[in-house]
Amino acid sequence: MSAPKLEVIGLTKEYKDGAVIAVDNIGFAVESGETLALLGPSGCGKSTTLNMIVGLEQPSSGDIRIDGRSVIDVPAGRRDIGLVFQDYAVFTSMSVRENLAFGLKIRKTDKAVIAREVGKIAEFLDLWDCLDVKAAHLSGSEQQRVAIGRTLATKPSLLLLDEPLSNLEASIRPVVRRELRRLQQELHLSIIYVTHDQTEALSLADRVAIMSYGKIIQVEETLRIVERPGHVQVAQFLGEPPMNILRGRLADAEGGVAFVCAGFTVLFPDCSLPEQVRERGPNKQYALGFRAEDLRLISPEQGQWQGEILEVEIRGADAVVNLNFRGNPLKSVLPGEFRAKSGPADPELLRNGCLAGLALEPENIVIFDADSNLRLESALVRGSAV
Ligand code: ADP
Ligand code: MG
Repeated sequence: MSAPKLEVIGLTKEYKDGAVIAVDNIGFAVESGETLALLGPSGCGKSTTLNMIVGLEQPSSGDIRIDGRSVIDVPAGRRDIGLVFQDYAVFTSMSVRENLAFGLKIRKTDKAVIAREVGKIAEFLDLWDCLDVKAAHLSGSEQQRVAIGRTLATKPSLLLLDEPLSNLEASIRPVVRRELRRLQQELHLSIIYVTHDQTEALSLADRVAIMSYGKIIQVEETLRIVERPGHVQVAQFLGEPPMNILRGRLADAEGGVAFVCAGFTVLFPDCSLPEQVRERGPNKQYALGFRAEDLRLISPEQGQWQGEILEVEIRGADAVVNLNFRGNPLKSVLPGEFRAKSGPADPELLRNGCLAGLALEPENIVIFDADSNLRLESALVRGSAV
């Protein structure tokens, strides 16, 4: 098997003699043609990671390999990596054409080749009409397109994008996002896409790496990460709204599995404990995670557990109901038909301060270890109660 396009191994960056650990022993790989999103809140070490990969920062320890070869001693300009910053950094006094040609010019590329490459990029990024316009006169999204084009013109083997949409007006972001998606597909580039915005990460990346306080806490395929968070922190970060988490004890009970939380027992009938839970013995603490979309509201009489309705947020098509379950905040998403009377949740019943019955299918529950906060592989097992 060939080496991945990029491999990051035990990469660490300390500042101030170790008083600040910006990046803490991270490792991941990007395969050829793949887009990996590095997703995490501001200050978690995303830009520092990119700066080390491109060669603007020297790592404190660890290795960076491109096509299987360490590039730690290769200077920034020779790593064949393109980096596009958040603030697009185009040369505003130059024309679009000059901007696009810049990288090739400093590489002393032949004039005819430069003209051909600039033409191709202009065609691809729809910049033909403004080739001779000064970059200062362009809109934010056009400038960002120029910045990306300028980087692409040098044909980097790896493209790093650091929050490329965050300085754009909200209305234009989906448009540029679609352009980026097309770029990926047509050019088959290997990309690291850094963002704090989960919508961007989930819509653009093949895999997502979740970063927090300098560490990577999970790398997972985009299609799976929302459904299969590997860590409580990932569960509480991803999704709108993120997963509900309840902490408590799990035990076998008559007719099913009992979850004891806040001094209250919820019975999941016709279920048995997954092997990993059973092997640990009784009375261990767990965190149960479940998506707000999977927590259904039923009439209080029907539910064996109830929550108090605190607030209903209408989001257009659906609504999020904020609940208090014995001191624990929970959220339930009501699907579109919630407005219909006698629908799944009659609006008459959705008043602040009212009780609602709660229903949840056991197969939609994710079980985490309460100490390590790591996910255990299996959910409750259906239909084999002992
Ligand atoms: P992100 O891009 O995820 O917002 P950064 O990589 O910019 O985060 O920063 C990670 C952490 O490292 C932050 O706490 C930041 O303050 C710190 N940091 C970054 N650069 C320096 C520096 N040159 N000196 C000291 N601390 C720094
Ligand atoms: Mg940053």
